[in-house]
Amino acid sequence: MNSEADIIIIGAGIWGLSTAYHLAREQTGRSIVVVERNAAVADETTRQAAGQIGQLRRDPLMASAVGYTLELLTGFKEATGHDPRLMLTGSLHLAQCDERMASFEEQLAHARALGIEAEIAEGVLIEQLAPAISLSEITGALYVPGDGYVDARACAHAYCNAARDLGVEIVLNTEVTDLRTCNDSVTGIETDRGPVVTGNVIATAGPWAGRLAAMAGLTLPMQPIRLQQARTTPDPGIPAHHPVVRIPDQSCYLRPEEGGYLFGIFDDDPMAIDPREMPASFATGDIKPAEDIIAGARQRLAPVFPVLEQLNIAQFRQGMITCTPDAGYVIGPAPSVEGLWFATGCGGMGIAGSGSVGRWLADSVLKGACRDDISPFLPSRFKDLDPDSLREACRRICSNYYALNSVTYSLS
Ligand SMILES: Cc1cc2nc3c(=O)[nH]c(=O)nc-3n(C[C@H](O)[C@H](O)[C@H](O)COP(=O)(O)OP(=O)(O)OC[C@H]3O[C@@H](n4cnc5c(N)ncnc54)[C@H](O)[C@@H]3O)c2cc1C
Repeated sequence: MNSEADIIIIGAGIWGLSTAYHLAREQTGRSIVVVERNAAVADETTRQAAGQIGQLRRDPLMASAVGYTLELLTGFKEATGHDPRLMLTGSLHLAQCDERMASFEEQLAHARALGIEAEIAEGVLIEQLAPAISLSEITGALYVPGDGYVDARACAHAYCNAARDLGVEIVLNTEVTDLRTCNDSVTGIETDRGPVVTGNVIATAGPWAGRLAAMAGLTLPMQPIRLQQARTTPDPGIPAHHPVVRIPDQSCYLRPEEGGYLFGIFDDDPMAIDPREMPASFATGDIKPAEDIIAGARQRLAPVFPVLEQLNIAQFRQGMITCTPDAGYVIGPAPSVEGLWFATGCGGMGIAGSGSVGRWLADSVLKGACRDDISPFLPSRFKDLDPDSLREACRRICSNYYALNSVTYSLS
């Protein structure tokens, strides 16, 4: 690792890697270094993600953020030679009550206003897309044909390899232990392998962003919260084109993976985790499988997908999503340190928005502005909220993810 760099990115999850790619794509000749504490990239939150890319967002900014990511990933292999493994299968949203169906009608109008293709799905289409669904258990469905999912790790590796091809240095096994500042400007980083001088630091440390912020005497309006899912043993009845299925009345989602189903749940009483209070070595792998919550999710899903009762769990997967009180990302300059940027608060939408996050950060750092107004994501917001209220507000956002009054999913 050189002792100087023009721009340092801390953390090689999907956000750091997309940022590196977008910075390098501008070909400014600046040296860009990604510093990652692990032996491999994308080995924390990103590795655990379901990778679902859903376009229906209440907030038009988020909808366009996902729209750009989809457009980028659709042409990524052709443009860079690296495959993000995007599956454009569409998505089905299932309603189990009239209120939900009414909210889908609103979503339909909203989607069309945003230019997103969507339709109310008839039973024949549902059966054809996802034959295991028990139609008698649902009131109706909304279909979004342009949605899909990626293998999140493969997608992050594609950003990484494309960034490397453009000259980005990825430094592994190196932990950032402190930030250096002078006269309210960033001047470098300290690592366990020595210091690096730089005038630009972008911290994309996911759930560990709070630790980085603390090094600069800052707090961020973000709370890491455990999220869990499980993959079943293979079921030969799953068609290759099976869409992502969201069952918001059960707070659950499901999609195919490795021949089985990957299903997850936003539980009613989610567990907050604060890496600032953990040993520095605390990693995603230290989080225990949430077997009871997964058992509950399977029970909730089984009436709609009876086949789940016959399949064993092949893998539990859990990680931390970073939630905020308004469900918006945390992206922008540090309030009081010139040259220091933060990006966290993914809210379970970090893969879906990864392209835009990278582009916003690259444009903001290189050009001083980006094409969207990302001021709603400023890290300085909620600065008067005490830690307990922040944590509870974030837990509520997570448990209400698919609720009828949700700020993330619903329009009601
Ligand atoms: C169960 C689950 C399901 C999900 N499903 C979806 C989904 O379907 N769709 C979607 O869009 N999103 C989903 N997400 C969210 C998605 O995974 C995240 O938004 C995304 O991975 C965040 O990426 P990141 O780069 O911000 O963080 P991370 O992937 O956690 O990367 C942060 C990196 O920073 C490194 N780091 C931290 N501190 C330091 C330090 N001091 N020095 C050096 N390196 C450091 C870490 O080692 C890590 O590699 C899901 C998440 C979970 C847990």
